[in-house]
Amino acid sequence: MEEQQQEKTHVVDSNFPLFSKTPKRPKLQKTQNPDESPEIPKLEKEASSNPSNPDSAAAKTTLFSDLGLSEWALQTCKELGMKNPTQVQSHCIPKILSGRDVLGLAQTGSGKTAAFALPILHRLAEDPFGVFALVITPTRELAYQLAEQFRAFGSCLHLRCAVVVGGMDLLTQAKTLMGRPHVVIATPGRIKVLLENPDISPVFSRTKFLVLDEADRLIDVGFQEELRVVFKCLPKSRQTLLFSATMTSELQTLLELSENKAYFYEEYEGFKTVDTLNQQYIQMPKNVKEVYLVYILSKMEEMGIRSAIIFVSACSTCRLLSSLLKELDHEPATLYSLESQSARLASLHRFKSGQASILIATDLASRGLDIPTVDLVINYDLPRDPTDYVHRVGRTARAGREGLAVSLVAQHDGKLMKAIEAEVGKQFEKFECKENEVLSDITKQGSYRDAMQLDFTISTPLLQYIHMPMLV
Ligand code: AMP
Repeated sequence: MEEQQQEKTHVVDSNFPLFSKTPKRPKLQKTQNPDESPEIPKLEKEASSNPSNPDSAAAKTTLFSDLGLSEWALQTCKELGMKNPTQVQSHCIPKILSGRDVLGLAQTGSGKTAAFALPILHRLAEDPFGVFALVITPTRELAYQLAEQFRAFGSCLHLRCAVVVGGMDLLTQAKTLMGRPHVVIATPGRIKVLLENPDISPVFSRTKFLVLDEADRLIDVGFQEELRVVFKCLPKSRQTLLFSATMTSELQTLLELSENKAYFYEEYEGFKTVDTLNQQYIQMPKNVKEVYLVYILSKMEEMGIRSAIIFVSACSTCRLLSSLLKELDHEPATLYSLESQSARLASLHRFKSGQASILIATDLASRGLDIPTVDLVINYDLPRDPTDYVHRVGRTARAGREGLAVSLVAQHDGKLMKAIEAEVGKQFEKFECKENEVLSDITKQGSYRDAMQLDFTISTPLLQYIHMPMLV
């Protein structure tokens, strides 16, 4: 536990050219003196406004047509059902159009993708060439999701958008890049390998935009080497856009290194999770966590929950819970790093399309995934880093919708739970559950008896419990 509480000591390399040295001056609007101190946006404090909700009072003060976007972009937003811009869109789109580098911090689900995709596509339409923009994101699934969104926003532009991620054929990706797509969406490791090919790096010599999505994760020490290669291949005159749901000391340092030239937007209204998210916890002995998990899942229909993500800390727990839930006819989808990329994509597709209502995942799924039917997030294992909690629960209650997060707290999790509550700035309520009901429900289920016949390689406390209910 002590190790979990340890502070991160990553330091940003001060030579990182994250922000372009000479930001392009505004074309669309007359703007401020570059020597002015950075604009720290005022936190708008309208009562009961929800910054991630486009229909909130605060968001209504701005219209998409006020942001400087072209007519085709306005029409596309309308067709996609985006009536009003969210806060992060209202603040960042005009700045990006004016040529500024941007660091945008906003709650997960607040419309950050459109905040950078729309202005990039607006500029692309004025002067189309490839590769116009490179977007880097930490996970392969997020890369595919971003590409879907770019394609939707750029549907009337005949946009050519390529995804280059690990686990897929390198040669095919190299050929795709040689075809100079307009937008490339990549994970750091794979783009580094491709950029090291001398035939491919010139393809990026005129790139206008570099986006680091989930920037806090990317500026992690683990990706510095990859980013260094990226920076070397992109022109200095590009715009750099960083978006993140959480601030880290590395991002803070970068902001300072930008010498006040980058526009910094921070949206939080005191809390890092949205008002529409109901956060609860449930306490139990460690050896009966599965019992409580199954109980919560049995209440999904009654609670009107369409789909749920269960977060666990290890791939082996993903496999174990998956086998167990399959025995109970749940047919869950799974997402963890030890699966092949095609299995990961197929699993995510099954969950997104509603064929599976439960996804069991490691933190691979904790960031950015935008699946509107997710009404419930269960932290089967608490995340070690409270920041990961914020990302995990952000898979529900997105774009103004409601959602529920339930954390399973075992006997040694108390300290971690307190750290999470401190990070979020809220005290969580207890998930209502009658212990008798939990226990009786289990003994009623015939399928558990079948599960007892399973040959699990890891001992399952649930099975022990069924043998010895009186001990619980
Ligand atoms: P993101 O934070 O970019 O993952 O977006 C979260 C969800 O909000 C996505 O499903 C978007 O399609 C949706 N969204 C983004 N901007 C708007 C908007 N202005 N109005 C309504 N929905 C939006």
